[in-house]
Amino acid sequence: MNYHVMTLFPELIEAAMNHSIMGRALSNGIITLNTVNFREFAQNKTKHVDDYIYGGGSGMLIQAEPVWLCYKDLISKIGHKPRVLYMSPRGKTFDQAMANELAKEEDIIFLCGHYEGIDERAIELIEPEYVSIGDFVLTGGELPSVLMMDAITRQISGVLGSDDSAIDESFYNGLLEYPQYTRPPVYEGLEVPQVLMSGNHKLIAEWREQKALEITEKYRPDLYEEYKNK
Ligand code: SAM
Repeated sequence: MNYHVMTLFPELIEAAMNHSIMGRALSNGIITLNTVNFREFAQNKTKHVDDYIYGGGSGMLIQAEPVWLCYKDLISKIGHKPRVLYMSPRGKTFDQAMANELAKEEDIIFLCGHYEGIDERAIELIEPEYVSIGDFVLTGGELPSVLMMDAITRQISGVLGSDDSAIDESFYNGLLEYPQYTRPPVYEGLEVPQVLMSGNHKLIAEWREQKALEITEKYRPDLYEEYKNK
């Protein structure tokens, strides 16, 4: 998987991606990360890429030209137009199903707005898909793109310790995950459920399934109903 991120703040992306599981996936080549800065495509001496908004209103907007030039340059380097995801509150809300689907792509471009966003004409020219990470407004598309790359990368074969790791997690089968414990067996008077130390895999699987159902019903009744009506 090759991630390409169009942004004004590449350092935000790189700092977040270079650790833990993402860092390992990068160093063993399962994923690559290419950040491109609109600023490199500014056609003025001071390299500014934002300006006041027509019609008034607070804040600055990223201009169409550096974004469009940056995009065209990137596409010509990739050699084709892959899926282009514009991080935007206007988009479809990102979820696990979208992460699983995107994990099958070879290249993905993330387009990150900042300040008040990007001049609409660049968006019209690029024709991206819109993706939101929720009904709230962030400062920029950088954190949403990192969040998405994290969730997508976990679904790529070879990234987690074993391919089973993602299968066990919340949302994989429509339920939240069961509770988990590690040593010691008793902490502050609280005991690990005996069944988990029984070595009986069938009983452990049954216990986990039951707990996943209970936890989903308690914390996400909407998911629970969906699961029951499947
Ligand atoms: N003026 C815009 C509006 O009211 O919809 C918000 C602009 S926001 C301050 C700057 C950038 O952050 C956006 O262009 C977008 O790329 C990103 N962003 C903000 N909230 C987001 C969200 N919930 N999901 C994805 N991207 C978001």
